[in-house]
Amino acid sequence: MAILVTGGAGYIGSHTCVELQNAGYDVVVLDNLSNSSEKSLERVEALTGKKPVFYKGDILDRDILNKIFAENKIDACIHFAGLKAVGESVAKPWEYYENNIAGTLTLVDVMRQNGCKNIIFSSSATVYGNPAQIPITEECPKGQCTNPYGWTKSMLEQILSDMQKADNEWNVILLRYFNPIGAHPSGTMGENPNGIPNNLMPYITQVAVGKLPELGIFGDDYDTPDGTGVRDYIHVVDLADGHVKALKKIEENAGLCIYNLGTGVGYSVLDIVKNFEKANNIKIPYQIKPRRAGDVATCYSDATKAKEELGWTAKYGIEDMCRDSWNWQKNNPNGYDS
Ligand code: NAD
Ligand code: UDP
Repeated sequence: MAILVTGGAGYIGSHTCVELQNAGYDVVVLDNLSNSSEKSLERVEALTGKKPVFYKGDILDRDILNKIFAENKIDACIHFAGLKAVGESVAKPWEYYENNIAGTLTLVDVMRQNGCKNIIFSSSATVYGNPAQIPITEECPKGQCTNPYGWTKSMLEQILSDMQKADNEWNVILLRYFNPIGAHPSGTMGENPNGIPNNLMPYITQVAVGKLPELGIFGDDYDTPDGTGVRDYIHVVDLADGHVKALKKIEENAGLCIYNLGTGVGYSVLDIVKNFEKANNIKIPYQIKPRRAGDVATCYSDATKAKEELGWTAKYGIEDMCRDSWNWQKNNPNGYDS
């Protein structure tokens, strides 16, 4: 069974390639490398003994998509490809809607023309907006997104759901990720952000490695136990494993399914700083800054549905996430370029 992994050279995609190959799947990657390096796939090969078949190209390009379907027997697509920087999406909404929405429309059109109607889509807890309930179940209504990136996820969920309702040959699995952090325990694969990181963990690891002087904590006056924002951090290897489990659901012809992928546990920004310091014996200097626009106080999942229906639960704890994030950063201070 060959799986097309769009965005497979990226952070979550590359870790998923490892878990897929370890589970015995053949993997075909399509990535335009706009936010990644092909070297990640060499690391996949080093860990699994096999390099995924790689096509450098764009999900907006019908010709390369048709070529992939002509040259491989693709049973399902795990669709990671997309732009994901929240702030950039506010400055460049057209680029985000074009890449993420037009790109996905092109991909699914070529898929159905080639008789492949199985897709797992990378969605996000951002679709819940300011969540109506905590912990967040999948029944929680979708909310108002605060940026174009979030809207692309929300709109694509709608588009894929409508397609499945109109044609029940489609199997559509929407996976709503909470906050992926961590890296492969080998220290050879991890997150490789361009420029100054926007997300908490890569910012912390860059402070730890001496690239950035101190962490800014965005607000300590939220209605949370210590005043800093609370999130559901999930190890990227657990997240990758969730996709392998979701493929089983596709094999059962499950139709439309939506799952939260989180641990069900919330940690504050200060919890993360303290756990990182303890796990790695490194001090992280920080300063309290004003709140960041668009942030919610608390966001964590109820992860029961994925446990009951996919047989999936997160295995790694916060200490593992902090240790593995640092292990990757210290061994690869310049990401895949080092
Ligand atoms: P990433 O940027 O590391 O990976 C995305 C990959 O897609 C990159 O390798 C990039 O080069 C590729 N890509 C982008 N546009 C493309 C296009 N038009 N054609 C072909 N390739 C293209 O990001 P990631 O963190 O691995 O995220 C993977 C997916 O998960 C994304 O859809 C993202 O929105 C979603 N997601 C990520 C997070 C997170 O915090 N990392 C949270 C929720 C959802
Ligand atoms: N955060 C922070 N400083 C940073 C980056 C993030 O205090 O440099 C906080 C942010 O306000 C939120 C949490 O860390 O409460 C997680 O933010 P991140 O951007 O990693 O993920 P988000 O939940 O926004 O998708």
